[in-house]
Amino acid sequence: MKSILITGATRGIGYATAKQAAMQGWIVILNGRDEACLAEVKEELEKYGATIHTLSYDVCDIDAIKKAFMWIKKNVGKLDAIVNNAGILDDALLGMVNEKQMTQTLAINTEAVIYHMQYASRLMMKQRSGAIVNVSSIIGRVGNAGQTVYGASKAAVIGATYSAAKELAPYNIRVNAVAPGFIATDMTQQLSEEKFEQRLSEIKMGRIGQPEEVANAILFLASDVASYITGQVIGVDGGMVI
Ligand code: NAD
Repeated sequence: MKSILITGATRGIGYATAKQAAMQGWIVILNGRDEACLAEVKEELEKYGATIHTLSYDVCDIDAIKKAFMWIKKNVGKLDAIVNNAGILDDALLGMVNEKQMTQTLAINTEAVIYHMQYASRLMMKQRSGAIVNVSSIIGRVGNAGQTVYGASKAAVIGATYSAAKELAPYNIRVNAVAPGFIATDMTQQLSEEKFEQRLSEIKMGRIGQPEEVANAILFLASDVASYITGQVIGVDGGMVI
């Protein structure tokens, strides 16, 4: 059975990916910060007959990442795929960006992704196989007013994906990203009605996306069906960038 680690797996796109992975028979390792929440999701996903593990840590805690991968090596034995999904949105117009927003956004959305790729690749290089899927954003491709820091954090994920893909291809490790558009999760619930309507008007398909629709693309890239695909960014955006 194949194993997959998903960061930020207790809600939204991460949860949808974990649920579909469980239904497809993956061994699913859930990351989150809230132990009670992780336990609840584990119990729910075990109903699909899947083996579910939980690892509670903040993705910015490098020491915790190291321990998490040691735990995976010891207890699961191998890691076939990792989904770097955990992320935050903390918008501000450029003139209002503060140090906390900058530091926190880049730490969670970018640096944590690179550290997770580093530790995952060390395991995967020994296996000489693996798939890394990073969750970027349409904002990292085309930008948006009020999202300079978020856009930078997500564009950096795309750059890191391309570079890691080139470095890891000789080890049979594939590195890809998805760039979701406007998806119905807690993250987009925080938008004002005006901003919500404005984003909606940019979508050619005329509707918001569902987390499951992003999960489908993530699990496609994580699976052997995508065995010859690396260094790609798949937009899951209902036609926002066409
Ligand atoms: P969400 O807010 O529902 O989920 C984010 C998850 O990340 C949560 O489970 C949260 O607890 C976790 N998380 C945040 N900081 C963490 C940390 N320091 N350590 C561990 N976990 C942490 O939002 P979502 O929409 O499901 O977002 C998932 C990913 O998709 C994010 O990277 C986001 O930037 C990206 N994305 C979302 C949209 C959208 O429209 N919803 C669009 C493009 C990209």
